[in-house]
Amino acid sequence: MLLIGSHVSFNSKEQLLGSVKEAISYGANTFMFYTGAPQNTKRCKLDYDLTLEARNLLYENNVDLNNIIVHAPYIINLANNEDESKYKFAIDFLKDEIKRVYALGAEKLVLHPGSYVNLNLDVGLNNIINALNEVLTPNQAVKICLETMAGKGTETCFKLEHIKRIIDGVKYPDKLMVCLDTCHLNDAGYDMKDFDKFLEEFDNIIGIDKIGCVHVNDSKNAIKTHKDRHENVGYGTIGFDNMLKIIYNDRLNDVPKILETPYISKESGNDRSYPPYKFEIEMIKNKKFNKNLHNDVRSYYEK
Ligand code: FE
Ligand code: FE
Ligand code: ZN
Repeated sequence: MLLIGSHVSFNSKEQLLGSVKEAISYGANTFMFYTGAPQNTKRCKLDYDLTLEARNLLYENNVDLNNIIVHAPYIINLANNEDESKYKFAIDFLKDEIKRVYALGAEKLVLHPGSYVNLNLDVGLNNIINALNEVLTPNQAVKICLETMAGKGTETCFKLEHIKRIIDGVKYPDKLMVCLDTCHLNDAGYDMKDFDKFLEEFDNIIGIDKIGCVHVNDSKNAIKTHKDRHENVGYGTIGFDNMLKIIYNDRLNDVPKILETPYISKESGNDRSYPPYKFEIEMIKNKKFNKNLHNDVRSYYEK
């Protein structure tokens, strides 16, 4: 079954219930959210009643709780330990985040592995391994999905070999999975126009059963530019037909596909104001490119 959804919001007032409502309004059967703001680590106390209500709403809409994804805040950086207290904070935050993910009933937590900053790639990868060895426990139900990165700045994990090294380096490798991000992979230098070939390579290096989630983003930039600028599906350099081949690849049938494509700006001004997901999900389900995506989104939200 096609599992398609998008990034949705999570606020302290409605919590998971708000996220579920938003996902359902897009026609999604999976979704991803941050447990607070993506750029900070302030987190609210989870409300059990809201979580229960959200679970009921998921059940009513035939959405499997196991297919919802949490994304860790992107300021968490396990690769850099120059500031010891910051490194320790990141480890402690991640331990708490795993508890939150479990309390919400989800099973997968996507993590940007980290940037080495003033250190080097080798040291950065070792720092990630050491940090994960403090975080992971043998009995946890939640899996951490390491995201493939674009290689922007000093990011690690823009090569499959980096992720392989982390998986091999931790004590509990069965607690780790991988989140493919098609924009990041393109920008890192992997050809998304030949996805079957990429999957073969992935299978040889890491193993296809380790793929826990796919971020299905088109890219604003050419292959191997190390930029990380997402584009709406079919509007970027990967292109609609290639995106469909990824989304409908039968080797990834039961893997949640999540859109993190940019919001559509208002006609006037450049602020990104309207979520495109309802319409992008529609064109993915119809397998037909919508060349009026921007206008359709604007008129839907401006009406
Ligand atoms: Fe991400
Ligand atoms: Fe992503
Ligand atoms: Zn990105």
